[in-house]
Amino acid sequence: MADAQIELPGISSRTILAVFAHPDDESLACGGTLARLADAGARVVLLCASRGECGSVSDQSLIATSELGRVRSDELLEAARTLGIAEVIIYDHPDGDLRWADVPQLHDEIVAAIRRYQPNGVITFAEDGLYWHLDHIGVHERTFTAVRSFGADAPPLYYVTIPKGVMRDVVDAALATGAAFENTSFWGIEAEAFGQAATPSTFVVDVREWVPRKLAALGCHRTQIGPNHPFACIDEVQARRLLGLEHFRRAPTESRWESIIEQLGQQVPSS
Ligand SMILES: [Zn+2]
Repeated sequence: MADAQIELPGISSRTILAVFAHPDDESLACGGTLARLADAGARVVLLCASRGECGSVSDQSLIATSELGRVRSDELLEAARTLGIAEVIIYDHPDGDLRWADVPQLHDEIVAAIRRYQPNGVITFAEDGLYWHLDHIGVHERTFTAVRSFGADAPPLYYVTIPKGVMRDVVDAALATGAAFENTSFWGIEAEAFGQAATPSTFVVDVREWVPRKLAALGCHRTQIGPNHPFACIDEVQARRLLGLEHFRRAPTESRWESIIEQLGQQVPSS
C-alpha cells in the first residue's frame, strides 16, 4: 500500500488547504489523510483559527514556564511536521468564541489563504463540528462562506466527520488493555457525543498505513493527550482497525474544479 499513492499523478504537486479551529483538530479529524496527501506529493497547508488557549490541560507542569496558547502552538508545529504539513498558519482568534468573534476577519483570512495558496481542495469540519463544538461549527461556517464566495472558481470543499461509535470503540479498546484511566471522556466530552449529529459521509480514505503517524501527531499535543489518554493506550492493531478510515463528504458548493481528495477515497463500507 505504501507505493499506491505514488501512482496518483492527480495528487502530486497539488495543494490542499485544511481549516480547523484548535491545535489537535487536524490530527484528530483527518491526520491520516493529511499525511497520506503529503506523502503523495501534495502541498498541505493548515490554517488554525486559534491557539487553543482555553482548553483543558493534561499536565499543568507542561505549561509551568509559558502560556498555554504558546505551548499549544509549538505542539501544533511539531504535529504538522509529523504529518508532513508544509505550512501552518495560526491565528489568534479567541478559543471558545470562534463562532461569534471576529466573524468578518476570519472569513477574510480564509479567503486570503485561498487566494494565496490556490488550493485544489479545502478540508474543514462538517456541520456537526465533530461533536457539536461551537468553535468547530463556527470554523465550518466561515470556511463554507469563504469558499462559496469564489463561486464557480471555488476549490472543492470537503467536510470531515468522525462517525458515531468510533470514539466509544476507542475507549473500549483502551480499557481492554488494562490501562488505568482518570476518565473515559475526551477533553471532558463523552465519547458518545462524537458523530452523534453527523451527516453520513460519502467516501472514506483508507489511512491504515498512516495511523501510526496520526497517533504520533496526536501525541505531539502533549498538553491535551497525556499518558492516560485513550489514544495513548490503544495498541497499534486496534488503532488501525478503529482509526484506519477517515470520513468525508463533498460540500454542496458550486465548483468547476476537478475532484481531488476523492482520488484517495473509496465508497463508505456498509457496516
Ligand atoms: Zn477543536
